[in-house]
Amino acid sequence: MYNARAYAAAGATSPLALTNIARRDPKDHDVQIEILYCGICHSDLHAVRDEWSDFMPTVYPIVPGHEFVGRVTNVGAAVTKFKAGDLAAVGCLVDSDRSCAACRDGLEQFCTSSTFTYGAPDTHLGGVTYGGYSDSVVVDEHFVLRVPPNLELAGAAPLLCAGITSYSPLRHWGVTRGKKAGIVGLGGLGHMGVKFARAFGAHVVVFTTSPGKKDDALRLGADEVVVSRNADEMQKHAGSFDFILDTVSAAHDVNAFLNLLRHDGNMTLVGAPSKPLQVAAFPLILGRRSLSGSPIGGIRETQEMLDFCGEHNITADVEVIPIQKVNEAYDRLVKADVKYRFSIDMASLKAD
Ligand code: NAP
Ligand code: ZN
Repeated sequence: MYNARAYAAAGATSPLALTNIARRDPKDHDVQIEILYCGICHSDLHAVRDEWSDFMPTVYPIVPGHEFVGRVTNVGAAVTKFKAGDLAAVGCLVDSDRSCAACRDGLEQFCTSSTFTYGAPDTHLGGVTYGGYSDSVVVDEHFVLRVPPNLELAGAAPLLCAGITSYSPLRHWGVTRGKKAGIVGLGGLGHMGVKFARAFGAHVVVFTTSPGKKDDALRLGADEVVVSRNADEMQKHAGSFDFILDTVSAAHDVNAFLNLLRHDGNMTLVGAPSKPLQVAAFPLILGRRSLSGSPIGGIRETQEMLDFCGEHNITADVEVIPIQKVNEAYDRLVKADVKYRFSIDMASLKAD
């Protein structure tokens, strides 16, 4: 066991602050990683502020961070995929049972005994797992991803959550050339959704509540931008979408978007507002439309997504911040004021 530096919150209304945490010494299949960049996901904020208490109450202290890249510093005797000095990345999962039907299919996100990177029971040290707002971590090699060497690291970190969470449903629902895809909310997940849907060849429409993001949406790859609070603009797209990805983090009217789907179209929620959404029956019934959800992605697909990003030179658009600015960044996230992901430069942890 050794000590790592980390930022933790002691309670739902406490700011994140410097602390020391215990990490296990690498076992045979473990990879020890010096964390270089960690993205800030809106899920970190939901968890730190216990906004999902109805579904998964937060255990304090919490060290968030589930999208990070770093450099391997040490490996266990049985590790084959990594050696010291390699780049490595970790997302939202650090373990699963590896034997259930979901795990055997490479769909660890559906394993009922998977271990989240933070806030889940830690089978090695007791207590709960601690995430990537830290200088070092130890993870089983199965859950460590390879980072294409051409990717800029600060922008690669968010691929491990924002990237895979938008990539996976776009692939699952067959968003390709000839399809019309909507992306609702231009934040961390949304801007990655735009990049992927564009790269897959679809006609991409961004729905935003922030008129000031219009030019960025087009630059990121959207063909059209709709200000979703403008009913006339929305009406022009009625019944026309094959697929809509909803990334919104707060309460909003999903029925307005369901009406934009063509018959048999699907809208997938990846955004996870804390309170239940109201769904009207008629928009679903009349067009045999479907509404579904999607969590992150499995390890195999996460590696596929990273390799795709390597080939197409796709990374997140990031604002790099020192960890001392993390509480300010959270306040800005609530105001949808991020272009389009905060990425923490973990070297700043040494300055505290
Ligand atoms: P984010 O960067 O804060 O982006 C959310 C965007 O939603 C905002 O930029 C804003 O876009 C829009 N928005 C915010 N409040 C709104 C409101 N009241 N009405 C309408 N639109 C609003 O968040 P993120 O990190 O992308 O995460 C988005 C959501 O996905 C969060 O709930 C997060 O917990 C969840 N999540 C789920 C998974 C999963 O596995 N399913 C994984 C990661 C994250 P505009 O300014 O363009 O309107
Ligand atoms: Zn996330």
